[in-house]
Amino acid sequence: MSNFPQRVRDNILPLSENQTVSEAFDEWVFAEETIDHEQPVEVCQLCQQEDLRYHFLIENELNGNQLWVGSQCILRFEVGVFEEGRKLSPKDAKRKLNQIYQRMRFDACIKALERVVATENTEILTNAWAYYRKNGNLTPKYAFVVLWRLQVHKIDHSPTFFKISLKTARHQANLADMDRSRVHLIWPALTTSQRVIAQKFGHTPPTEQDTAPSS
Ligand SMILES: [Zn+2]
Repeated sequence: MSNFPQRVRDNILPLSENQTVSEAFDEWVFAEETIDHEQPVEVCQLCQQEDLRYHFLIENELNGNQLWVGSQCILRFEVGVFEEGRKLSPKDAKRKLNQIYQRMRFDACIKALERVVATENTEILTNAWAYYRKNGNLTPKYAFVVLWRLQVHKIDHSPTFFKISLKTARHQANLADMDRSRVHLIWPALTTSQRVIAQKFGHTPPTEQDTAPSS
């Protein structure tokens, strides 16, 4: 890699021992620490990209200097990502960072569920919360109740992070029988292939009018 943006050079060199950028990057590793800021409000301390929701900590192995960066910079500049003491190939590094994203999304959903249960302690919400913790996904029915109540209570959440299970015939029947407005509410949480299934059941994707915030 020969082409480093000037701002990246300016940020990495003062914190590194080597004074060529590619050698400087060899000193840095992903420090296995992340922060979910819950809103896209942060800046990458390497490339200065704005609107980051997630920060990943990288550390200089020679002098202990640290930077909070976006995961894209870790991959782009091939900052060392390790697993069980082994430096990962770029492809495996990407896989590992993706797993970390999945984990953070799961944690964000759990946090939203905790908040909604704290606000409205009903049996169905408590059960949905327990179900998510156990299975890492919601049935279509649970998904509707959870996303609806989160919306009603204006609890900050990302609908696309919630995973919905359509594995069993019962879950599919759930979705097939669901009212259109309910399907539209859970639509953002459905994967592309689940949306195809929903359409096979006769459902239609929400139009812009359906999804416009009703304020
Ligand atoms: Zn960056």
